[in-house]
Amino acid sequence: MATTDLLIVGTLSAEPGRKTRGTLAADLGTLTVDIPLTLVNGTHPGPRVLITAGVHGGEFTGIDAATRLAALLEPAEVRGQVIVCPVANPPAVYQGRLGVSPLDGVNINRVFPGDSEGGPTGRLAAWLFTNLVDGADAYVDLHSGGIDEVLTDFVGYRLTGDPELDAKTADLAGAVGIEDVIFGTNADGGNSHAAAARQGVPSILVETGQLGERDEDTARRLVGGLYGVLRRLGVLDIEPANDTAVRAWVWVAGVTAEATGLWYPEFGAGDDVTEGQVLGRVLDPADGREHKVLAPATGRIFYGLRGLTVASGAELAAIAASAPRDPGH
Ligand SMILES: [Zn+2]
Repeated sequence: MATTDLLIVGTLSAEPGRKTRGTLAADLGTLTVDIPLTLVNGTHPGPRVLITAGVHGGEFTGIDAATRLAALLEPAEVRGQVIVCPVANPPAVYQGRLGVSPLDGVNINRVFPGDSEGGPTGRLAAWLFTNLVDGADAYVDLHSGGIDEVLTDFVGYRLTGDPELDAKTADLAGAVGIEDVIFGTNADGGNSHAAAARQGVPSILVETGQLGERDEDTARRLVGGLYGVLRRLGVLDIEPANDTAVRAWVWVAGVTAEATGLWYPEFGAGDDVTEGQVLGRVLDPADGREHKVLAPATGRIFYGLRGLTVASGAELAAIAASAPRDPGH
């Protein structure tokens, strides 16, 4: 539990009862980027909560919601400390507007906790981890369906094998007010919430909005969801919103393009599919050959690629199956 000590991140700091807004320069080796941060230091002791958005470009709802939240939070109402980073990956957000960085083509959400001696994106991941994730008592990472991605809203988290941590995390996931909660059966891989979970930080992924849309109502709803999480953590003393019953799911399959070409999907986000069902076709524009894409498992598609052009190896869809009960609980 953090106390009402001075909140320090790099060269930014906030006294107890103060809010500080500014940027920190992250050294990526060949260049530096400015990371925007809002530090809200409460007047009473409580946990330190980290909220990031803009880990990927082209995912606007989280960036919008995090920026609104940073403006709304008042230190006098906060127990503990809240760190809001609305644009965690400025090159991907402002230039590429894609999941990969225009600096080096790397998807930062595959390389956490990063490498301080690596390429620019690996260094950025390491910077975010060292400066923001280390020392946090809870972590919320905001994503959306990208510009070419359909998505139905969900909250994700990873099981770590530590029952106490998993229960805490499942509890946070249920506090967002989004019905569908999907867990992964381990905390492997380079996703920021997975890497943070491996360090023992209760961490959730919140996915809202799709196709690179900007929508004020969705952003406002997400701010409400973040209030729900902060309330659950004891950071905000506010009236509970109406409880949303949670449906538990487990990831069962990712669908990968086996050929480069033109993608003709035959599903929408939220569709239930059966193993072996045709999900779409990839057409080779050179020879006109068609590669059928079949569902590798039965379940519901929570997100998928919508853009016309696709490279071999790209993720076309992700399928989760209904879970009898949430093992985090
Ligand atoms: Zn994302």
